Amino acid sequence: MDPIQSASDLDAHAGGWSARNQQFLSYFLSRAGHRGTMPLASFVIAVAAGVGVGALVHQAVGETALALRVALSVLAGGAGLAVVCRKLDFDYAQRSAATELASGLLHANRDCLKVLAADGKMLRVSEHGAELMDAESPDQLSGADWLNFWSGDDRKAAEKALAGALAGTSTSFTGSCATVKGRTKWWNSTLTPVTGDDGEVATVLCASEDVTQQCELLKTLRERDELMHEMESHVRLVFYSYSSNFEHFHHVSAGVESVFGLTPQDLANRPSAWLELVVPEDLEPLLAEMSRIASEATEGRIEYRIRRPDGCLRWIRSTAYPVFDDSAKVARIVGVSEDITLEQERLAALDRLAYTDALTGLSNRGALIRHMKTLCRQNVAFGLMFVDLDRFKVLNDTLGHTAADRLLQDIAKVIQGALPPDACVARLGGDEFAVIVRGPSDKATLATLAQSLLNLFSSDVRKDHAAPFVTASIGISIFPEHGRDHEALLTSADIAMYAAKKGGRNGFRFADEASSDVLGDFELECDLPTALASNQFVLHFQGIHEPASLAVKGVEALVRWNHPTRGLVRPASFIPILEESGFIVEVGAWVMDAALAQLSIWQSAGRQELSMSVNVSARQLRDDSLVAIVDEALRKHDVPPHCVQIELTESALMENALLAQATLMALKRLGVRIAIDDFGTGYSSLRYLADFSPDIVKIDRSFTARLDRDAAAASIVRGIIQMSHELGIKVTAEGVETDQQLHALRDAGCDYVQGYFLTKPTNADKLFHREGALAAS
Ligand code: C2E
Ligand code: MG
Ligand code: MG
Repeated sequence: MDPIQSASDLDAHAGGWSARNQQFLSYFLSRAGHRGTMPLASFVIAVAAGVGVGALVHQAVGETALALRVALSVLAGGAGLAVVCRKLDFDYAQRSAATELASGLLHANRDCLKVLAADGKMLRVSEHGAELMDAESPDQLSGADWLNFWSGDDRKAAEKALAGALAGTSTSFTGSCATVKGRTKWWNSTLTPVTGDDGEVATVLCASEDVTQQCELLKTLRERDELMHEMESHVRLVFYSYSSNFEHFHHVSAGVESVFGLTPQDLANRPSAWLELVVPEDLEPLLAEMSRIASEATEGRIEYRIRRPDGCLRWIRSTAYPVFDDSAKVARIVGVSEDITLEQERLAALDRLAYTDALTGLSNRGALIRHMKTLCRQNVAFGLMFVDLDRFKVLNDTLGHTAADRLLQDIAKVIQGALPPDACVARLGGDEFAVIVRGPSDKATLATLAQSLLNLFSSDVRKDHAAPFVTASIGISIFPEHGRDHEALLTSADIAMYAAKKGGRNGFRFADEASSDVLGDFELECDLPTALASNQFVLHFQGIHEPASLAVKGVEALVRWNHPTRGLVRPASFIPILEESGFIVEVGAWVMDAALAQLSIWQSAGRQELSMSVNVSARQLRDDSLVAIVDEALRKHDVPPHCVQIELTESALMENALLAQATLMALKRLGVRIAIDDFGTGYSSLRYLADFSPDIVKIDRSFTARLDRDAAAASIVRGIIQMSHELGIKVTAEGVETDQQLHALRDAGCDYVQGYFLTKPTNADKLFHREGALAAS
């Protein structure tokens, strides 16, 4: 029987089989045909490779049954062999069915099948094999050296496999080789020896499965796996999969080594090893969050600190997400732990920046309020001290900003050094400091603390600075006594501080001691800016008398504020506010103008030699405009300069002696006179004051008051008068209230007297009403 013809017959059953495959089959059939029988092994090989089954049916019916039996046994596995054998019969009908099955199997084979000669030449290639090798036909490959397709290690593997098959064993290997068109493909090749009649291996059947896709997939997976591994081990992240009850890990990525300083193996051996690193304060909230995640089966996130085995402290943020199984139960908990130490450090730095006072390094207002809010929320008793430096504006202007800044820094240190370590010290801005002292703060403790602060300011700080005066006023409020929230406490401490200032500065007050008129002072403060514009200031005048005749030689202008609701307000209530706010300059200019205007009126009315004393405060003295203001008023009202006296207090002069001296010189050049007011309350060194070469010294009324009962005071007054006269300075005694005082002053040679006994400050119209009566007395 012609094998090719037989193959054509098969075509009809197989439903289209290409001629080339038939040729491939015919090769086997020709080899089998001339032998009459084929060794069983050859059949198995042929059928296992999906080749030649149908053809063999035509070749020998008896053999066909056997071949099919073997083929099916290979395909179905050894277990099915007996069944298949029983089912197969040798009658024709079955034969044709078997033919159809065999042809189907061959057609279904997806490998590249080829028959190799002992020298590796390809004797035949299956039709599909040629397609896989991108060849136009099997003929294109026939005769080519199969070994030449391989190179490198693959070539060696191919040689070895071929040699093995030729030696009689079935071999296999996996390698890549290029197709005819140069496309690299991966192959899984199985080489099966085909023995000849003599039992020797004559050819080798090579079935190569195209595994390129699988290999590429594998490669991609491997690369991805490597990438994951690299990423996991290099980023400071730990990916983990925990059991649903947090008892053991399914997986922990390599990053655990850099983050926790533990190996995945450590955690496999002892899953709780990482928990042992958590700092004790953070452990409880961490465990609570873990148990919440487990019980509520919802995601969670927590930040905590660990002390790594190498001793360094790190911040960790862990997130956890429950993963559910089909029955909606938590199957495992997956998540990420990351090292957020840098982030925390940056946050802390930002926090420091946002809540620190740049100049002193203390907390700032924001930090103080935050701290107070926390304490109020926690219901922790504490005392708040509001510390405000007295006359800081003066210090700032006279010392210069750099020195004033240094002063503030030193004050910050002094406050910090004087307080318990857990006290919070803040600078609220400018010269305002605040202190929070925790604990059940009884007033006595806080009072001692406040007083010790005040003492330190006037000793420690003064020692290191040119500033002659560093005093402060302190207001104290206590939680919860004076307020239950930070706002109420700050306000009451502020009011108390204000009361301390009003009470003479360099002192402290508790919130409840701050009298209600301090609140009134706040109102005054608010009303002040408009007072000048709406002409609410008025001048009262007090006579300065010649002690013998009691004639009015001069007049002192004393400002009053005619407040719309409060009536006449005395200067002690508003001059400090004007000074602190700087408004004193404008108001002072108005006083100068109004006083000289009045002087001009009186002089025009016949009192040509009447002098006018105008008070000038420290703040005014520091202001560049003072000299120009005086000059302008002199010109405007055309009064002789020698009739004008500028009264300055000792302290105003001492606050910046150099600046004061320069201004005094300029004033003197205008021709006005200088009086030192309230003499005896400050430095009281006439020799020192003589450097300012004043024209007049005004002895403070506290000395005058003691004249009639205190012999020492009397001799001091006499001394002052004597020494002043030696220096060419005239003396005025203030606050003369009694006849006795008047006589004592007269006897001591005092040049002028001033006081209620003679004239009380009053408006211009009434000033001279008593003059006649006085002269007569
Ligand atoms: P000062 O310059 O020492 O003024 C004298 C103060 O003593 C005045 O108080 C006056 O009313 C009061 N006084 C006069 N005689 C007696 C007396 O016999 N007994 C008693 N107990 N007091 C007497 P005032 O008017 O309340 O002024 C207080 C201070 O306010 C002044 O002290 C002065 O330093 C300041 N002042 C007043 N007017 C002005 C002003 O226009 N500008 C500036 N910068 N300060 C002013
Ligand atoms: Mg005065
Ligand atoms: Mg005075």
